[in-house]
Amino acid sequence: MDEAKEELKEIIEFLKDPKKFQRLGGKIPRGVLLTGPPGTGKTLLAKAVSGEAEVQFSSLSGSDFVEMFVGVGAARVRDLFEQAKRYTKTSGKGCIIFIDEIDAVGRQRFSGIGGGHDEREQTLNALLAEMDGFGTDESVIVVAATNRPDVLDPALLRPGRFDRLIVVDSPDIKGREEILKVHVRGKKVSPNVSLNKIARQTAGFSGADLANLCNESALLAARREKEEITMDEMDEAIDRVLMGPQRKSRVINEHEKKITAFHEAGHALVALLLPKVKSLDKVTIIPRGLAGGYTKLLDEDKKLYTKNELIEGITVSLAGRASEELALGEISIGAHDDIEKATKLARNMVCVFGMSEKLGHISFDKQSGPIFLGRDLVTEKHYSEKTAEEIDKEIKAIIDQCYHMAKELLEKNREKLYTFANTLLEKETLDGEEVKRLLGFKTEEKPQDDSEKTKEPIDFKTEEENKDDNSENP
Ligand code: ZN
Repeated sequence: MDEAKEELKEIIEFLKDPKKFQRLGGKIPRGVLLTGPPGTGKTLLAKAVSGEAEVQFSSLSGSDFVEMFVGVGAARVRDLFEQAKRYTKTSGKGCIIFIDEIDAVGRQRFSGIGGGHDEREQTLNALLAEMDGFGTDESVIVVAATNRPDVLDPALLRPGRFDRLIVVDSPDIKGREEILKVHVRGKKVSPNVSLNKIARQTAGFSGADLANLCNESALLAARREKEEITMDEMDEAIDRVLMGPQRKSRVINEHEKKITAFHEAGHALVALLLPKVKSLDKVTIIPRGLAGGYTKLLDEDKKLYTKNELIEGITVSLAGRASEELALGEISIGAHDDIEKATKLARNMVCVFGMSEKLGHISFDKQSGPIFLGRDLVTEKHYSEKTAEEIDKEIKAIIDQCYHMAKELLEKNREKLYTFANTLLEKETLDGEEVKRLLGFKTEEKPQDDSEKTKEPIDFKTEEENKDDNSENP
């Protein structure tokens, strides 16, 4: 969290020696907003700031107010600020007021169904009034945390209020390795455990997830009566945190197992065949959590995707169903999650990222704030019925094109698909290297930057473009 820490260091300086900044007429910042996914340590960071600056820390959580009687929340906010001001006056020290889950009170006003939420609005108004009422000589800083900056009332973000925004993101690969080091401290870990490898497999995990992973692996090792935690338990713990525990006891009939094997082999094979897709970590047909089986790709710490990468992502999502249809001649409901994911992504391509050739570089769904964890965002739609129809058509064109591409790739590699699915039926779980060896792909570990050049790049064309091509070359 180097960047977040750097920004907060400045706040610590303010709190430690406000005079230094006021001497030249500067105003101490009033409010700092920490935003980021759950479990990334926003509360811990705020506490660390107060500890480092040696100032008082008082906190409350936005969700405490939700069920309160009208007026109580506002009174509590006034109380909290009153206490903080009194404390700084008598002690000469600074104070941090920490408001967790500020989105619970700070949602945009007048936006609820059937008008506003009286209690919430009064609390929010009290908070705004208190923040505006600060004297310039008081060294009270309000730190708030949220994972939904997109729903906050714009009034909260105005200058003089929460005008400093600090993003506390999920840790990157280096950060994850450091966090893992902290959590294996005091646990008996075998020397064969590579924290770097685990860090690579856990893109998107928050600090809390990584702590959970380390604890799960210790419990697993104990259950298996081992002397130390090995890579096996670590691997199993990653899957547990991701998908829930294995359900080996679930009885699956042979036909169901076969569908799952072809479904997963379809995802994994298409992932291996496409140039931009992340490397394959493992494939299994052992049910876990709600999933019948799953294919795990090694995620990179990536934030910026190209159109082709998105297209390939959708293609991999649809490859499970395409494989069922191709190999078994019928399709199952096992793909419902894939279908949902693919549709959402295609919709975002058209409506948010402006990636549809036909509709152009235009945003149709207004979305604000960072896109965390694939949550449904608050969207405003402003377009005509006719445009809505075209949007639907474009989404369908993308999905159809991707499905077609997946099926074509599998058709061309039919033999590989059958070998893969049959081996899965027999062995149930295969890791990425085993799969590559089995199917004759290059096996050396893919480097981090994914520079394998053995695959040919594919060109994505919408149906419209294909039609144009055909008319030129009848
Ligand atoms: Zn699937």
